[in-house]
Amino acid sequence: MNLELSDEQEAVRRLARDFVRREVVPHATAWDRAEEVDRGIVKKLGEVGFLGLTIDEEYGGSGGDHLAYCLVTEELGRGDSSVRGIVSVSLGLVAKTIAAYGDEEQKRTWLPGLTSGDYVGCFGLTEPGTGSDAGSLATRAVRDGDEYVVDGAKMFITNGTWADVVLLFARSTDAPGHKGVSAFLVPTDSPGLSRREVHGKLGLRGQATAELVFDGVRVPATAMLGEEGRGFSVAMSALAKGRMSVAAGCVGIAQAALDAAVAYAGEREQFGKPIAGHQLVQELISDIAVDVDAARLLTWRVADLIDRGKPFAVESSKAKLFASEAAVRAANNALQVFGGYGYIDEYPAGKLLRDARVMTLYEGTSQIQKLVIGRALTGVSAF
Ligand code: FAD
Repeated sequence: MNLELSDEQEAVRRLARDFVRREVVPHATAWDRAEEVDRGIVKKLGEVGFLGLTIDEEYGGSGGDHLAYCLVTEELGRGDSSVRGIVSVSLGLVAKTIAAYGDEEQKRTWLPGLTSGDYVGCFGLTEPGTGSDAGSLATRAVRDGDEYVVDGAKMFITNGTWADVVLLFARSTDAPGHKGVSAFLVPTDSPGLSRREVHGKLGLRGQATAELVFDGVRVPATAMLGEEGRGFSVAMSALAKGRMSVAAGCVGIAQAALDAAVAYAGEREQFGKPIAGHQLVQELISDIAVDVDAARLLTWRVADLIDRGKPFAVESSKAKLFASEAAVRAANNALQVFGGYGYIDEYPAGKLLRDARVMTLYEGTSQIQKLVIGRALTGVSAF
């Protein structure tokens, strides 16, 4: 793997850094306090091409490879994880899955809107009763003529109240195959679909997280994404790539923690000198720096494998596991460097820690990543 970025990748990273400095950083604290990111940011993300990365231009995408996608995701995560999450879900889990599994009509219906930011997508897998054991989901899609009738509920759905389309996973009645789960593209204005915002989150407070309830929602059979009964593989393949995006967001958090800790340690004086001159403060800072580098290299490896068409799912789990735990450690170490000021939200470390914490929970908890890695190494499933 070549660890030098190409001119094109450097340019994308610069573009993302400038965008985040201008459009995200000045508002991140206010959005966190208000529990809502300004929705105008979605259109701006679309205009600059960040919602179309890796998607063909034919469908409104901006192309580029997965390393470029990682670089942008890292910069967004460095500025505000709530904004990063909007992209990771609307592009990473929804648009990219439509691009991979959709038929021509599905691609033409949804991709131009999702890549431009006119539409927002959400990914409906988790249910109130099934999280880690997603394959046991209970939402049902019962065939009725040319339609399916959907009943059930989805929990913790990122972008849920904003979204125009939900990539829904439901147990379809006639499914002959694998686990009987099928994927559907359901417009969120469908009669019978109601949404409730989940408030009081520890972090990602600017992001819309919702419960979706399906009460007799009628979905045309043509809305099925991929083959009937193969929806669980669609979900797992979306999440394998999604974990790379989460990992890249975690690198951004850890990098922001490093930047903040170094700057503060140079300014703050105790015992007659900047705290940067105390060895134990340097230990905190160097621990963050090593976590940043290790997490970034693991994440870039996944991007490189995807771009070269190699298997990447286990490496993606490793990157997500390490980077999410590293982001929590890094933000916590940065908070320690800030002392008491780290505990108030006028300074960045507290928000970084709150935003990092969920990364070890969603798209597969740390325990679930370890089971994926352990199964690959031993050949024995311990789920
Ligand atoms: P559980 O599965 O109940 O797990 C509880 C604990 O048990 C965890 O520690 C877990 O690691 C452990 N555990 C479970 N099974 C095992 C096992 N076999 N071995 C060892 N330990 C085990 N979901 C979506 O579908 N779409 C989204 O957009 C989305 N966004 C989210 C946003 C936020 C802010 C949050 C908090 C969650 C989001 N989720 C989303 C849901 C998320 O993916 C789940 O919360 C996660 O998969 C864990 O499921 P659970 O919360 O039900 O925990």
